[in-house]
Parts: sequence; structure tokens; C-alpha cells
Amino acid sequence: MTEETHMLPSTTDVLVVGAGPTGLALAISLQQAGIAHVLVDTRAEIQNTSRAAVIHAHTLDMLDSLGVSARLAAAGLKLTTFTIRDRDRQLLRIPFGRLPTSHPYLLMLPQDATERILTDRLTSIGGRIHRGVTATRLQHGPAAVEATLDTGHGEHALIARFVVGADGMHSVVRATIGTDFTGSTYEESFVLADVRMHWSHGRDDVQLFFSPDGLVVVAPLPGGEFRIVATLDNAPEHPAASDVQALVQARGPSRGTSEVTDVLWSSRFRIHHRLADSYGDRSLFLIGDAAHVHSPAGGQGMNTGLVDAVVLGHLIAGELRDPSSSRSIRDRYQQLRRPAAEQVLGLAGRLTTMATMKHPVARGLRNVALTLLDHVPPAKHAIAMNLSGLSRRRFTGNTGDSGAAQVALAGQ
Ligand SMILES: Cc1cc2nc3c(=O)[nH]c(=O)nc-3n(C[C@H](O)[C@H](O)[C@H](O)COP(=O)(O)OP(=O)(O)OC[C@H]3O[C@@H](n4cnc5c(N)ncnc54)[C@H](O)[C@@H]3O)c2cc1C
Repeated sequence: MTEETHMLPSTTDVLVVGAGPTGLALAISLQQAGIAHVLVDTRAEIQNTSRAAVIHAHTLDMLDSLGVSARLAAAGLKLTTFTIRDRDRQLLRIPFGRLPTSHPYLLMLPQDATERILTDRLTSIGGRIHRGVTATRLQHGPAAVEATLDTGHGEHALIARFVVGADGMHSVVRATIGTDFTGSTYEESFVLADVRMHWSHGRDDVQLFFSPDGLVVVAPLPGGEFRIVATLDNAPEHPAASDVQALVQARGPSRGTSEVTDVLWSSRFRIHHRLADSYGDRSLFLIGDAAHVHSPAGGQGMNTGLVDAVVLGHLIAGELRDPSSSRSIRDRYQQLRRPAAEQVLGLAGRLTTMATMKHPVARGLRNVALTLLDHVPPAKHAIAMNLSGLSRRRFTGNTGDSGAAQVALAGQ
């Protein structure tokens, strides 16, 4: 018998499948509430790659209740402005510094650092991750779910009152629920690269550049690094510094210095826009990429999943405290979180369409519209509320939102 099998119980209140950012956040929420749970992940180690690089204000407000926002904020780089430019010309400047939140900034932090901070928090309060353990089969029993776990050394049977699929885009929990993952795959692929570079255009804002060839985003990261994001029809799997340099030079500012010296991490991926028709059934629920995937435009994917986790954690804790409650968690959870993801998919889709316009007339009209918008402060505030996630506060039922509590108090 291995240590993992030995440590796995045969019954639990909640089985969390997947220890990515959303599974970790849910496990922290359950551990804080004193709820018995088992968190498993196929991977033997934490995933050591950069991926999602921005944490938004609404997410940090929600993560305050898990005791991690201060550490995330200390580790990340706080930026208060997002600008859209066409090569050298600034079209629109969106400020985040005066938003109604405890965290009025864009927090730049690579995903592996975020996952490490979540892991540290979980273990510091007595939680644990069963790594190298895969959920292979889930079956509804009379009052619970019977899960079969592959430990790498054999099968382990676990009975759980609830099972949460935090198991990413190819979710086995979603397959068990049997719901459709409705949507499509876009033509463009994205190149992401974390680089070192000489850049004479500042490290104070996230800069999105439009150009006839497509977009490029240049966003500062902690440690003097930069995240570069670009759309490309046939992106190389592992772009060299010279490839990234060519993209920045062709699409970014034509003046000043922009010289990429090292590529520290890179990735290429195709964009899927998909949303699960159902977020759960009697005892099985979906959070994060298992429920919704979309373009990285706007940096919303991981953020939406982290908010799902905090909301579902509160709902499960409430149900286990008071099982006689008349409203099912499934209805409440779906009503709160599916509309939030619908809005996020709409936002990411609009940003992607706007950024990938090819026709010169359409691009000209887009640029005029953005320049006009730059003179309308209420419209700019609305965009910042949307990008920061704060406009979607109503989709949390006020579960664990420190920012909402602060705003409510300020309004009394
Ligand atoms: C290259 C890349 C770049 C990205 N860039 C951005 C970005 O800029 N901004 C942004 O917001 N988002 C970005 N994302 C998306 C972001 O990484 C995801 O939204 C986020 O990781 C979702 O977290 P999650 O916990 O839902 O799922 P995941 O991070 O996918 O974690 C799922 C976990 O479940 C485990 N698992 C799966 N099946 C099983 C099973 N049967 N049993 C046990 N364990 C299982 C997996 O091993 C994995 O650890 C990017 C993603 C990629 C791949």
C-alpha cells in the first residue's frame, strides 16, 4: 500500500477533482469551514508554467475570505492602467486606481506563483493534496457519489456526498454529468511568451497594440520581466527571442527601444469558447475551466474560476450546516455563476473580435470609436468595472466578497 492510498479515506463530504488554481481555492474554503474533503490531482507535481498572468480586483476581493489576497498582492506587480494603442498612437486609457474595491489595480503574477501561494495557504491550515491520484469513474449512489480513484498503484474506492470537477477543459466530472460543452474553436492561435527585454515605453501599464498584422500585448511582470501576447494564424510552438522580437517590432511602437533578449517561457494555443449547459446535478458540480473556456483577451479565465470556487465553497458549507434548506445548491450555484461566465465569454469574444479585425475600414472605425470613448469617463469606468470583474459582483450572492462588504459599509 502506497502512502497516498494509505492516506486516502473511504468516505468524505467533498471530493475535489483537480488541484489547479480553482481546486486549491475550493479546498482552502472547505478546510477553513472545517468540512471533510479530499483533493486529488493526476499530476505528481505542481504545474510549473506561467499561463494566467493577471489577477483582477473582484477576484482578490473574493480571495480575501481565503486569507491569500495580501500574499498575492505582495508577490505581484500592481498596475493601475490599461491602454489601447495603434502602434505609436494612444487610443484609449482605462484607469483602475479609483475602482470601488479593496484592490484597485491589475495584479500581474504568473499562475505558478499564484498556485504556490494557494498551496502554501492550504497546507498551512492543515489541508493536503493527494498527488498522482486520478478520478477515473464516478457513479451516483442512493445518497452519495461512488468515486474510483487510480492511485498509480491500484484502485481506491471513495464515497463522497459531493464531487466538484475542478479538472479543467477535458473534465471527467463534466462527462459524468453528461452536459454539453457548447461552443466552438476559433481560427486564430495565440502566442504567449514571458521575456526579458529592453523596453523604453514604461512598466506602469498593460499596453495593447493594434496593427494591420494583428495585436500584441506587452504587460510588465514582477522581476523586471514582460508578458507578450500576440495572435498569429500559424504560431510556432516554441517561439525564439527573434520571433517574439519580430512580432513586437511589427505590431508595437515604431519608435523607441523594444529589444527582446530572452524567452523565459512560451506557449501557443488555439482559442475555444465553450460553456457547460449545466453547472451540476444533485451532487456533482463544475468550477473553472471544466465549466467555461474562452480567449485569453481580458485575462478572465482563471479569475472567473477562482470566483466560482469561493461561491461554491460557501454554498456547500451552508448546505452541510443546514441540509433542510429548501433551495438546492445546484440551482443556486447555476443561477449565480453561469450568467457570470456568459458575460465573461461575451467580453472575451468582443475583445478578440475587436483586436483581430483585418479590414482597413473596420479598423479605422474601431480606432475612431475608441478615441471618442477616451473622452467619456463614465464609459471608461464601466469598461474598468467589467475588466476588473467588479460589474459581476451580483453573481456571487455576496459570498465572501470583502470589497462588496466595504462598499456596503461606506454607503451606510
Ligand atoms: C498556455 C496557457 C495560457 C493561459 N493564459 C491565460 C491568461 O493569460 N489569462 C487567464 O485568465 N487564463 C489563462 N489561461 C487559462 C488558465 O490557465 C486556466 O483558466 C486555469 O488554469 C483554470 O484553472 P482550473 O483550476 O479550472 O483548471 P486547470 O488549471 O486546468 O487544472 C485542472 C487540474 O485538474 C487535474 N485533473 C484533470 N483531470 C483529472 C482527473 N480525472 N483526476 C485528477 N486530477 C485531474 C489536472 O492535472 C490539473 O492540475 C491559460 C492557459 C494556458 C494553457
